[in-house]
Amino acid sequence: MITQRTLKAPVRASGIGLHGGRQVHVSMLPAAINTGIVFRRTDLSPVVEIPASALLVGEATMCSTLIKDGVKVATVEHIMSALFGLGVDNCVVELSSPEIPILDGSAAPFIYLLQSAGVVAQAAPRRFMRIKRKVEVVEGDKVARLEPYEGYRLSFGIEFKHPAFKTSAQTCALEFTTANYVKEVSRARTFGFMGDFEVLRSRNLALGASMDNAVALDKYRVVNPDGLRYDDEFVRHKILDAVGDLYLIGAPLLGAYSAYKSGHALNNQLACAVLKDEQAWEWTTFADEATAAPAIVSMHARAA
Ligand SMILES: [Zn+2]
Repeated sequence: MITQRTLKAPVRASGIGLHGGRQVHVSMLPAAINTGIVFRRTDLSPVVEIPASALLVGEATMCSTLIKDGVKVATVEHIMSALFGLGVDNCVVELSSPEIPILDGSAAPFIYLLQSAGVVAQAAPRRFMRIKRKVEVVEGDKVARLEPYEGYRLSFGIEFKHPAFKTSAQTCALEFTTANYVKEVSRARTFGFMGDFEVLRSRNLALGASMDNAVALDKYRVVNPDGLRYDDEFVRHKILDAVGDLYLIGAPLLGAYSAYKSGHALNNQLACAVLKDEQAWEWTTFADEATAAPAIVSMHARAA
């Protein structure tokens, strides 16, 4: 059986929020079968729980923010990406402020924490959402779509008129497995242009941004003294974000995602379009792994 999974033990970290710039403590806790991923604001009394659902994304300008009854959890995409990366179905994420810490700007610190905790199988089948027909959202020249595929595949194209992008590939594709994700995508950091920085700050965004948690570009080049982690780190980060944004659908997908110039807002439109079109997908479980395509069995390595 392909089963649900949770953490073996709680793990904790602290850091600052990218946009709010505030210190935040975050804990990832084991959770029961069928919990899904749930965020819990422990700084509020009484505490407020917000399920990780695409339908609760209330803001998606620079990051994906969940809002329920006026309570926010901002910048959920990288932790969601890491949780999906390691195949965690059930987890409670406690946080002491409205924004998930940015840490190094990638999913790697969350991967490290989750690997330290360990992932365990639970005695219930994992429920996959199998895409049965194409769902596509378009906004100007931006596109994001999901199509039928027995496995999980992501491809992304970006285009920036900037010298630093001329020397690096602007398309990237990932046949999703934990190993591929961890090696090829999880270390890619968020990036930003110095020219946009003052504008963002004037709108109370990017208050916590620095070269410790983002790749910064001036007019000509990458400013970070250590350069890039991958030659095409920018487009790899877009795949990292898409994995997190799509996990807000609430289940692992069987399908092929392809996008051009998409971002959090369009990814969220796609996730909501899928959830609202019940003819476009079906639930499926694999009581017997032998009936699953190899690409599905190998998505997440076997848990202990
Ligand atoms: Zn990101």
